Amino acid sequence: MKRHLDKCFHTMIPCKYIKLGCQMKGKRKDMVVHEDDSKCHLRMALDSVLKLHQENTDLKGKVSRLESCSQPTFKLTEYSKKRQFNEVFVSPSFYTSSPAGYHMSISVLANGDDSECDQKSYLSVSINIKRGENDEWLEWPFVGYVTITLLNQLVETRNLGHFKRTLHFDGVDSIEAGCTHLCRHFIRHDDLETHYLKDDTLYFTVSTDITNPKA
Ligand SMILES: [Zn+2]
Repeated sequence: MKRHLDKCFHTMIPCKYIKLGCQMKGKRKDMVVHEDDSKCHLRMALDSVLKLHQENTDLKGKVSRLESCSQPTFKLTEYSKKRQFNEVFVSPSFYTSSPAGYHMSISVLANGDDSECDQKSYLSVSINIKRGENDEWLEWPFVGYVTITLLNQLVETRNLGHFKRTLHFDGVDSIEAGCTHLCRHFIRHDDLETHYLKDDTLYFTVSTDITNPKA
């Protein structure tokens, strides 16, 4: 019994500020004195707060990069040729992230949709809601807004910001996957060519806001 008491008495205990990085260990009575030394622990606390602050800043950067990654971006090259030869650019398909699961792509008609007489003045874009892996448990019809953004690449017109158009799906013609919503007058060629086109290349991003109450 005596030996056991001796052992307990001599047990080294760690400083209660070990989580702040204090490595001090000692006998209980010494540790009481040590732990009262607020100066060194305050410095550790300050270092710890600064480290957390830096980690928080890094994480915020990562989250914002992930958010921008989750917005699909598409690069349309050879704009002039596509306009000249009436070529349609169809983007790789993607799944919406918020809420997850609708399968989509966009089509860009550089020379415009040809079913209207003023077709030569505008570039047209359509949103295609495609059949996808999640259709069975998604809500239909698809009701919500899809915003297509044409990125402003030019330093000299940066004050204009990016060019955006939002298409509304009211559910009437989006009862199930397989529908297309055309924005015939997406942007005038004149505006596009003077403000958004660079190296014959355009960049589009797509974001969605689903308003279906059950979604
Ligand atoms: Zn300590």
